[in-house]
Amino acid sequence: MSDIKENIEQINKRIESAAVKSGRTRKDVTFIVVSKTIDVPRIKEAVETGENNLGENKVQEIMDKYEPMGDGIKWHLIGHLQTNKVKYIIDKVEMIHSVDSVKLAEEISKRAAQKGITAKILLEINVANEESKFGIRPEDTEKVILEIAKLPNITIKGLMTVAPFVENAEENRVYFKEMKQLLVDINSKKIDNVFMDVLSMGMTGDYEVAVEEGATMVRVGTGVFGARLYPAKN
Ligand SMILES: *Cc1c(COP(=O)(O)O)cnc(C)c1O
Repeated sequence: MSDIKENIEQINKRIESAAVKSGRTRKDVTFIVVSKTIDVPRIKEAVETGENNLGENKVQEIMDKYEPMGDGIKWHLIGHLQTNKVKYIIDKVEMIHSVDSVKLAEEISKRAAQKGITAKILLEINVANEESKFGIRPEDTEKVILEIAKLPNITIKGLMTVAPFVENAEENRVYFKEMKQLLVDINSKKIDNVFMDVLSMGMTGDYEVAVEEGATMVRVGTGVFGARLYPAKN
């Protein structure tokens, strides 16, 4: 078996045990294979395992890989999205994980309406209030949701975060717990048109802890393909 396939098998096993620890099963967690900077042949190798959710952080890369990868892929935009690029990917992606402003949501709503579709989005939360990170501050989340919930052709499915880069994944447990609590709190407010059940959190270094704390989607790149040859810019 190739390294890529072996890595995916290992990660699947680990997701499964972490899911069981949180009283769930493997099926409750979507494994998003983060394919940024990776070329099409290697991505195809990954997809041969049956994993067909791919995460990219740049609009351009989704556009370049969309045709060559063919049907059956669910593309997830996980990186910062500029308003003027929404039109290129609106009907290509399964979900946009990185919505961090009402203005961006308005553009997504407008473009989705033009295509006659409903866009599924997550709100990116800057859970540790890191200055270097995109995302909504936890305390502003409800206010932003109230605005976005009024827009047509867009559904807020849940929350996403990029946790701090840490040596020991346990350090991020507190942030994953906080994300779960935020989701529960907002659902309990019974806002019209808002019921969130997706928590996109956990990367190569910390996905097991994230799943233990309730992640329903993990985004793993390095763990699948090895270290990226060049850094992906946001
Ligand atoms: C690159 C990236 C990942 C995957 O990171 P790895 O550490 O390589 O698993 C996950 N989420 C986002 C938003 C990313 O940009």
